[in-house]
Amino acid sequence: MNILVVEDERNLADAICRIVQDAGYVAEACYDGRTGLVSAKSGLYDAVILDVMLPNVSGIEIVHQMREEHVATPVLMLTARTSTSDKVEGLDAGADDYMTKPFESPELLARLRALTRRQGDVVLDELVYADLVLDLSTHDLRCGDRSVHLSGKEFEVMRMLMSSTSRVVSKQDLLTRVWGADGETSENSVEAYISFLRKKVNHLKSKVHITTLRMLGYRLEVFPV
Ligand code: CA
Repeated sequence: MNILVVEDERNLADAICRIVQDAGYVAEACYDGRTGLVSAKSGLYDAVILDVMLPNVSGIEIVHQMREEHVATPVLMLTARTSTSDKVEGLDAGADDYMTKPFESPELLARLRALTRRQGDVVLDELVYADLVLDLSTHDLRCGDRSVHLSGKEFEVMRMLMSSTSRVVSKQDLLTRVWGADGETSENSVEAYISFLRKKVNHLKSKVHITTLRMLGYRLEVFPV
């Protein structure tokens, strides 16, 4: 699951990212309201952790615009103040839950679990593309009666490729969505993981190939056997 964290206090944003990453989510941080708004409206995340007090565009305004444009991603608001007006305003604007800063990581994770569970129709058990089945709970990739287990990053890369069967997934997309704000990762890592995945898909004797499109990225294609 991909979690967007919008929080201008970098230390706190990075700490939240680490907490949710340690719990097995993929996390990405935005440090101001304007970029947070664009990312939140993309609909590409399973949940958004959103600070109220942000430069440029407030958290309340972000959730308001998301709901106005029918982006249904669950939103957990972070409020520094204990004043009820912030909470009421946030919930009225369309937030699903709120949490007062400072908070303990178990509480954050419990609220996140509750939020992502609530999207009943969005949570899938498996992704299917041609003869490939990706089990989203066990991280096994199957083809017929053959099966391989995918490591954490392999799973996230494969999930992105299988979620977007028509469009191309760029290396940059993979870097930001799978590796998040980890600035030390380079495009070479993406290539390495694509190569691991090709070997596994090949081992499964699937008709699916991970095709490289020069300068653009990767796409799944079905080749006749
Ligand atoms: Ca703030």
